[in-house]
Amino acid sequence: MRNKQEQVQDLLAFIDTSPSPWHVIETIEAAIKPLGFIKLDETAKWLLRTSGRYYVVRDDSSVVLFVVGKKPVADAGFRIIGAHTDSPGFRIRPNAATTNHGFARLSVEIYGGPILATFTDRDLSLAGRISHIDQQGNLTHQLIRFDQSLLRLPNLAIHMNRGVNEEGLKLHKQNELPLLLTQLAEDQLPQSFFKSLLAQKTGTDANQILSWDLSVYDTQKGAFWGANQEFYANSQIDNLASCHAALQALLDGGILENPENTLVCALFDHEEIGSESHIGAAGSFLPDVLQRICSTFSMDREDTARAFANSFLISADMAHAYHPNFPSAYDADHKVLVNQGPVIKSNSNRRYSSESISVACLIQYCENANVPYQRYSHRSDLPCGSTIGPIVSAKLGIRSVDIGCPMWAMHSVRESAGVQDHEYMIKVMKQFFQ
Ligand code: ZN
Repeated sequence: MRNKQEQVQDLLAFIDTSPSPWHVIETIEAAIKPLGFIKLDETAKWLLRTSGRYYVVRDDSSVVLFVVGKKPVADAGFRIIGAHTDSPGFRIRPNAATTNHGFARLSVEIYGGPILATFTDRDLSLAGRISHIDQQGNLTHQLIRFDQSLLRLPNLAIHMNRGVNEEGLKLHKQNELPLLLTQLAEDQLPQSFFKSLLAQKTGTDANQILSWDLSVYDTQKGAFWGANQEFYANSQIDNLASCHAALQALLDGGILENPENTLVCALFDHEEIGSESHIGAAGSFLPDVLQRICSTFSMDREDTARAFANSFLISADMAHAYHPNFPSAYDADHKVLVNQGPVIKSNSNRRYSSESISVACLIQYCENANVPYQRYSHRSDLPCGSTIGPIVSAKLGIRSVDIGCPMWAMHSVRESAGVQDHEYMIKVMKQFFQ
């Protein structure tokens, strides 16, 4: 069993090798294949066996992993942990490259709700998926990643923006976000230059590149910080820390060997933009997989309904840690502290899926795992964020609770959280899976 520093070191490496949601799935596949997980194709017929380990990927950026337990699923239900693979930031537009006084810039769309100002003066780069015609004339899709710092959004000097410290850094979403890429010669066209850059990466011709999904990422690697290295920082902690914890709970510590229950990790793309897609939590992906598991084991409609009714979902997403510089941002009685344990989130308006019974179940998992827990409720005069919890719970008709580790600077390009909390979260999730 790894200690808490090693677990977070592993998390930081997980994030560093996963600069986009497409790379998250690639990283997960590399980790689970040696453990005997079999990839299921949604277009093929499935043959499953008890104790078998399987996974299904939809459109390269959402994945459902599952292990078939010994107990009949109609009686025992599914034990599911859900989280999301995407993080807010920038996406490159189709006709992205333009030029101004010889400076080639890439125009971006904002994906989800990032803190825009945090993207300034960072060593940014590109990662994602490209569709192109290969040398044999076939249409192929390929993940690419530029490792070097490729792009930048330099701040305007304070001498031209005198109010920046009083009013905050405001960036016009259309005009002031294009990212600087290079300086071009007069006869160079920006879009063909950009395409040739992508072509070098894919090993094809620039005019064979048909389309892309490209995410902007921060090349700075993850790090520990604090006098006792008790904190860590990286991009995408929301929500790759929860994905990593769920995977650790499933893969590490013997749970895979002859599990009693059927265990599921469902990691979805598109949470940051509302989950409404064929691969998102509001889509058919998870219901399709669970129903196919039931039908593969020849369960009738009655037993399938019983399986769903006996199931439980932990929706894992990061929580807002108390920031001592901004005490008024929190409800006075629901401040949750970094390194003090997983947070159980409640919201009467169902922005979180927790209710008294699912909360009580989760508290028992924490107590049995010897892990402290904290309770969070958002200020009434601030709009509360949400998670996949209410969506998946409604879609499947199953009981659910929302939990997460406390973190600072959610949706910054450089977020931070506590080392101890990650270990606590893995322990609780293991308890749930046992
Ligand atoms: Zn999140």
